[in-house]
Amino acid sequence: MPDETEVPGPPPASQLLIGLARLGQAVRMDARRNAGPHTLSPLQADIVALLGDSRAPLRQGEIVETLASTAPTVSDAVKALRRKELVETTPDPADARALRLALTAAGRTEAARLSEVSRTLEGAVAALAPEDLAAMLRGTVTLMRELQDRRAIPISRMCLTCRFFVPDAHPAGTGRPHHCAFVDAPFGDAELRVACPDHEARD
Ligand code: SF4
Repeated sequence: MPDETEVPGPPPASQLLIGLARLGQAVRMDARRNAGPHTLSPLQADIVALLGDSRAPLRQGEIVETLASTAPTVSDAVKALRRKELVETTPDPADARALRLALTAAGRTEAARLSEVSRTLEGAVAALAPEDLAAMLRGTVTLMRELQDRRAIPISRMCLTCRFFVPDAHPAGTGRPHHCAFVDAPFGDAELRVACPDHEARD
């Protein structure tokens, strides 16, 4: 006898993947609409945002690796950003023959503009109940770590791969069970970070 409480239908995992694909589409469409005064392509916007988040100038190879792109594609985007006077080169103190990339003053202004979450996406996220937001963030970082382990996406500077992250260091009932040893403070699932400038990779 089939279990009558079972609802027939496609497996939840496939529905989750379809949902994630739709969300990715919404973010990409939003990025295209948000080209801004310098008509940035999505890759150019990613490079400006990456340099804006970085504490130090980056080598072009580091940008290629972080964005999981290719050297020629990033090279073309960097040339366009230099023409737009958003990015400049600085000498690499570790290698006299190498150069690193940094934002100009106009590039920093553009990075600040890009860091503002669009009203559409912010409004959608605001509709989530706090416990749903925390659960989605926990699920998202778990999926990201699995995909990173499978080399399907580039490594992110997130808590789960950070040497300062101590999971479940505090009683669960506090709502802030994890500990960040960098700031020496407890935090909960809703405060997990996926792009933290203070991240240092675990060995
Ligand atoms: S330093 Fe940043 S990434 Fe590392 S545990 Fe603290 S908040 Fe998370």
